[in-house]
Amino acid sequence: MRIHLGIDDTDSLAGGCTTRIATNLVSILDSKGVAFLDYPNLIRLNPNVPWKTRGNGAVCLRMESSLNTEEVLEFAAEEIERSSRLGDPGTDPGIVVLAGAVPSDLEEFSKEALTRVVTPSEAVSTISRVGAEALSYGSIQGIVGALASIGMPLEDDYTFELIAYRSDDFIGKPRLVDNESVVRMNKEMSQVTFNNVDPETGRILITPRGSDPILCGVRGESPEAVRKAFHMLRISEPVKAWMIFRTNQGTDAHLTRRCRISDLQDHSSVVVEGIVMEKPHTIRGGHVIFVLGDETGSVNCAAYEPTGRFRETIRQLEVGDRVRGFGGMRSAGKSIPRTLNLEKLEILTLVACMQSRNPVCPHCGKRMKSAGRRQGYRCERCGSHAISKVQLESSRDLAKRIYLPPPRAHRHLTKPEVRYLRTRTGISRSPMEWHFP
Ligand SMILES: [Zn+2]
Repeated sequence: MRIHLGIDDTDSLAGGCTTRIATNLVSILDSKGVAFLDYPNLIRLNPNVPWKTRGNGAVCLRMESSLNTEEVLEFAAEEIERSSRLGDPGTDPGIVVLAGAVPSDLEEFSKEALTRVVTPSEAVSTISRVGAEALSYGSIQGIVGALASIGMPLEDDYTFELIAYRSDDFIGKPRLVDNESVVRMNKEMSQVTFNNVDPETGRILITPRGSDPILCGVRGESPEAVRKAFHMLRISEPVKAWMIFRTNQGTDAHLTRRCRISDLQDHSSVVVEGIVMEKPHTIRGGHVIFVLGDETGSVNCAAYEPTGRFRETIRQLEVGDRVRGFGGMRSAGKSIPRTLNLEKLEILTLVACMQSRNPVCPHCGKRMKSAGRRQGYRCERCGSHAISKVQLESSRDLAKRIYLPPPRAHRHLTKPEVRYLRTRTGISRSPMEWHFP
């Protein structure tokens, strides 16, 4: 029987990790004779849901098995009870199991979960409609992601991530991954991996911070690429296990919902086209804000401080420029209006920008000086006069293209600049890989 197992929300801000539990589950189910049909799918959902821990990631395992759905659900439940952060606030694990093919109904549900806030009750009704089975701990929040991960077949664009895990007694201590080896790997593997190092700051991006069990994660275009890149790293602590995931990371899968400004919903991921209505300005904290308008209204757009040089692009926008903003809607705060948090910006048209300059002398080509208040302009060399300033079109430093923040400010889902020229061709045929010492 073909079985899909989705799990979500096993982590908390204090630690834990859904991919870690999925890695254990692969080992457990493998020992029960299950044949996996795909790499574990690491599915990132709408990153603009405010209450999610870190990346809003769920995992789906797809298998051919003589076990029935209850048995698979039971193995998953046992592992979650053993390894998740049950009891931590905000940890509400969910498990969903579905037999057979994935119904189109469920694929629709998953598309929604990528771009807006989907409620647990919507998940519950979808579960009963498609005939899945679900189990949740704490609130039923976790079943939203668990269900959505099953409904995302990753048929269009996708990438891979090799995630390596730490041994328990190292969790919480600094990660012993040699930075130089990361820089070297990045140089050599730049065509087939991404987001190893932030080019603006040199910051290493493959190692997370904090007390979770992940040692590092290497993202790339194929299982072969991430495995080769991982083995180029110099690591001076035990690697407890590693697993390669197929994922929607780095694909912009969440930036597909085109919205008019009057239709924008809080916490949704959106694409909005409009005209710059007010010149960008910088507010306290270094965030850059401008007003975008279309025929239905206007909305504040923000490039926050962590987006680094991306803010310099935004500051150069002029009133009248036509742009397409991609990002997440933040709800209004005490004194802050609701704001589109920009994850990328596409410039569609640029207005001509006029600048008034003193005239140039027609005889000697020298720029004239003011001859005094209301006296016009005079050439210092030959004495010629001119009445007024001239309007010149000044060049714009922006181009009609897509601008992105630096990788260190990216969401997991953000498609990095280096991937724009890469195209995917079919699913890799190599067998699924993992490693347990
Ligand atoms: Zn002159």
